[in-house]
Amino acid sequence: MSINKQISSSVNDIRFCKKCVISNQRPRIVFDEEGVCSACRYADEKKTSIKWAEREIKLQELCDKNRRNDGRFDVIVPCSGGKDASYVAHILKHKYGMNPLTVTWSPFEYTDIGRKNLDSFTASGFTNLLCTPNKILHRRLAKAAFFAVGDAFQPFVYGQMSYAFHIALGLDIKLVFYGENGEAEYSGDLTTKEWPGMPLDVWSEKYFKGVTVNDMVKYGIEKNIFSETDLTQSDLLFYAPPSIDELKRKNIEFQWMGYYRKWFPQENYYYAHENTGFEANPSGRSEGTYSKYASLDDKLDGFHYYLGFIKFGIGRATSDAAHEIRDGHITREEGESLVRKFDGEFPETHFNEFLEYLSISEGEFWSVVDSYRKEHIWQNNNGSWKLRHAVWHEGS
Ligand SMILES: [Zn+2]
Repeated sequence: MSINKQISSSVNDIRFCKKCVISNQRPRIVFDEEGVCSACRYADEKKTSIKWAEREIKLQELCDKNRRNDGRFDVIVPCSGGKDASYVAHILKHKYGMNPLTVTWSPFEYTDIGRKNLDSFTASGFTNLLCTPNKILHRRLAKAAFFAVGDAFQPFVYGQMSYAFHIALGLDIKLVFYGENGEAEYSGDLTTKEWPGMPLDVWSEKYFKGVTVNDMVKYGIEKNIFSETDLTQSDLLFYAPPSIDELKRKNIEFQWMGYYRKWFPQENYYYAHENTGFEANPSGRSEGTYSKYASLDDKLDGFHYYLGFIKFGIGRATSDAAHEIRDGHITREEGESLVRKFDGEFPETHFNEFLEYLSISEGEFWSVVDSYRKEHIWQNNNGSWKLRHAVWHEGS
């Protein structure tokens, strides 16, 4: 049984954006009357109507308001050592004169290149707190999440969002700077695109409307994935946000750099390579896509993208190509052929580690995967699964 609240809202009539390669199966994306997705419309606004010079001034004012000269940290940047957050931390320190503390919620299993990038990042002059969750608990939560919502990645997301705010509260640091607003950049949820950051009330409401860590714990206990005795409240602390009232009382703010400065992942890559020693994937590209510099640090990442491909028919190459088309790096035609070539490629390299991490069999893995195939997305031809609609045979 799934407790995923996203999937039920997808529309059955599959369409693809006329400008990029994304389909309307992506949660919360909106297509306009010309058949163009909201993320493409937002990308146009970034090029034409957004007044970046004004936003630059706002960023300077925000930094001026928060900069400390008393030897204390004044901004937190959640950063695993990837290109985007490395860029954010570096410009805050060197262009805006801030004193960033970087915090990392550990990947499930660091890849060699991921660990190396984090080391290079601190070696370039940053203090970093690396929080590594209790692995017995973390593995069980990942297993519960895999069965409950078809995504073992969920416990990472909880900590990635929450941990930084516990540190902000504990050290009285008023700013927490994330990279881009994913809703505006990738989905185009129109309500958020004018926001410089996530209002704490909205964040907390979204968090509690979704599947929370407490829901996951309850599910895990019901399904005998773990027992009450495996859990302590203290180990669960960083998986949920701290008191929102307390964050508000202390004026702690959740900000996105993508609001203040044009967000170009490819440029962040060049910047981080130059300034923080960031290296791309040594094997040339990541499984399931053609790109070599995004989401490199976790051996289990590939399964998050793979399950997204199963649930929505949207794989990692589709997301990468859509973004690069919007940024003008590739054409839609090139995007289609990249999707055809790489989307849905199985993340074979770390499959055994994934099964071991979750303590599940290959049979259990595939039965969960197949339970997320929706009738309007997939068809079974003599035992092999095929997408009913793909951007490369849609001719749109
Ligand atoms: Zn689009």
